[in-house]
Amino acid sequence: MKTALIHSDQYSRFDYGPEHPLRMERLGLTWRLMEAYGLTALPQAKVLAPDPADEAVLARFHTREYLEVLKAVSAGLQVPGAARHGLGFGDNPIFPGVWEVSRLIAGGSLLAAKLVADGEVERAFHFAGGLHHAMPDRASGFCYIDDPVLAILSLRERGWRVAYVDIDAHHGDGVQFAFYRDPEVLTISTHERGDRLFPGTGFVEELGEGAGHGYSVNLPLEPFTDDEVYAEGFEAIVPPLLRAFRPDVVVAQLGIDSHLTDPLTHLAFSVQGFALTVKRIAWLAPRLVALGGGGYDLPNVARAWTAAWAIMNGIELSSDLPAQARQELARFGFSDGSLWDPLAELPPDLRRRAQEYCRRQVEAIRRTIFPLHGLA
Ligand SMILES: [Zn+2]
Repeated sequence: MKTALIHSDQYSRFDYGPEHPLRMERLGLTWRLMEAYGLTALPQAKVLAPDPADEAVLARFHTREYLEVLKAVSAGLQVPGAARHGLGFGDNPIFPGVWEVSRLIAGGSLLAAKLVADGEVERAFHFAGGLHHAMPDRASGFCYIDDPVLAILSLRERGWRVAYVDIDAHHGDGVQFAFYRDPEVLTISTHERGDRLFPGTGFVEELGEGAGHGYSVNLPLEPFTDDEVYAEGFEAIVPPLLRAFRPDVVVAQLGIDSHLTDPLTHLAFSVQGFALTVKRIAWLAPRLVALGGGGYDLPNVARAWTAAWAIMNGIELSSDLPAQARQELARFGFSDGSLWDPLAELPPDLRRRAQEYCRRQVEAIRRTIFPLHGLA
């Protein structure tokens, strides 16, 4: 199995600001954990740094006006109307180089897609990517340029059928929006329910429109959904739909803000539960373009994406974290020496509620979407 890992040490030059939950340092932390496990020098894996995406490529999804504004504010210019594009407050701060880093991240996801499309590798992982909330004319949810959309568009240009599987705790709304009318792109997003969490969308009823009716799939989840409840819902929905759709490639958004200790969300996954899901996706995908996503408890991010990259290469990792990584993770408050999490026991009533909710959503998907794909 030939694989590719896409990473740039330039990412650490950029910073959303001291109060912002998205810490760019999570990427270096992840890289160094991979390195400590020997995963950055594998014989079958290319390791490549991206070039920034061309502006013309960004314009395949984003409006010219938005791109001009993003470029200007990034250079420190005052632009009246920047707020209309979601820029400059709260979630989407204007920081120096936001234009450059957004282009670089887009370039990384496009490179991952190209390597897979050219047949150079079967699986590629760009863990800085997966910024799934950005819309054509505005930044949203820490995302300025929608790299998953651009990667999928580049695969569509090759005539490929693309399945997008998004397991971030938040709904993949930007990607769903981009392909809402396209039956050649099946989008599946599992996430904490939209009436409890940003961005407020991602209900089962959002099925797609026109020719794309039935090609937009959402599995919303109750707070405290854990590995076991999730696995049941995932297995009921994702494998049958992927088998029926028969994609040429799967683009996966692997956000790990679904973790029990993530400060922004209320799901209850463990790193080992996340890893099992990644294993299923990798196994179901004929070819895989994997991206990162959310993740705001940094040691979780490093452990989860390291485990994901090992899975993509068919490698079993020792659960004992390498000594140097242990020290570094301890600086972020992670004192446990294991790649995996201890078993968490949730209160039974919370678990039951999460399970009942998940089963109801699965039933609704089976009733409304399955028949559109010839599934009973
Ligand atoms: Zn998220």
